Amino acid sequence: MLEEIARLKKEKNIKIFAHNYQNHEVQQVADYIGDSFYLSKLSKEVDCETIIFCGVKFMAETTKILSPDKKVILPVEEALCPMAHMISPEDIIEFKKTHPDFKIVAYINTTTDIKACVDVCVTSSTAVKIIDSLEEKNILFVPDMNLGNYISKKIKDKNIISWNGYCNVHDRVTKEEVINMKNKYPDAPILVHPECRKEVVDLADFVGSTSEIIEYAKSIDKKRIIIGTETGVLHVLRDLNPDKKFDLLSPNLICINMKKTTLEDVYNAVTGKGGLNIEIEENLRVKALNSIKEMIRLAK
Ligand code: SF4
Repeated sequence: MLEEIARLKKEKNIKIFAHNYQNHEVQQVADYIGDSFYLSKLSKEVDCETIIFCGVKFMAETTKILSPDKKVILPVEEALCPMAHMISPEDIIEFKKTHPDFKIVAYINTTTDIKACVDVCVTSSTAVKIIDSLEEKNILFVPDMNLGNYISKKIKDKNIISWNGYCNVHDRVTKEEVINMKNKYPDAPILVHPECRKEVVDLADFVGSTSEIIEYAKSIDKKRIIIGTETGVLHVLRDLNPDKKFDLLSPNLICINMKKTTLEDVYNAVTGKGGLNIEIEENLRVKALNSIKEMIRLAK
């Protein structure tokens, strides 16, 4: 399969993008590994006809929104992010009716329908900067309440209401697990993702997006580091830092949707026998693109 994938990638002008949380066997055949927005943005610059996006569906959709001229294939149709489906466009329409003075901000981990009806998107690394720069005082942040709480703590002078969605992977980490790790490895810094609960974030030594965690872990002079985000990132961290030890903050930090994609699924997508060809109706794509463009403008 490895040889066939390599041969067909060249023959068909395909590039494979893999999220940091993907299985190691999938990351090994990827041309690019990173977080979802880095990969989606990259899709515009990479010279290829087809992108096989190994991640969850909203990520492949974001790539298609930004690169409509390329064919984007999601190897496993059922790889969905549960959090992205914890809010519907109808919820937002209802909210707008009763709160006309609110700016609606969506985490990039949302469906195309949601991106098309909000004012601006954010990533976990740009959320604080972008929301802080908005003129409006009243903000609805969707769908992740944990990231919303983290943003509210950082920006005191705004009225930020968070939707009640959550990532069922990061939200499972408990305060007790953090305390146990601190007792077990008192010298090891704890790095967590802001999708974790407030009590976990409050006890951490560093809070950041997956890419920020990777950068920070590389920059610090520590032999052992505790990681509070999805386990797939450990492959990337160990490859980049062979002299450091990485432990997972909780055994529950596994996203089953991210792990649905296997090497065989990638092989089937490359050969054309499997995978979902992402298609988005043009009017909807342009509306969703507007909230992403606004994010890129405000993040500068
Ligand atoms: S880790 Fe959480 S936010 Fe990311 S895809 Fe899985 S469920 Fe969704």
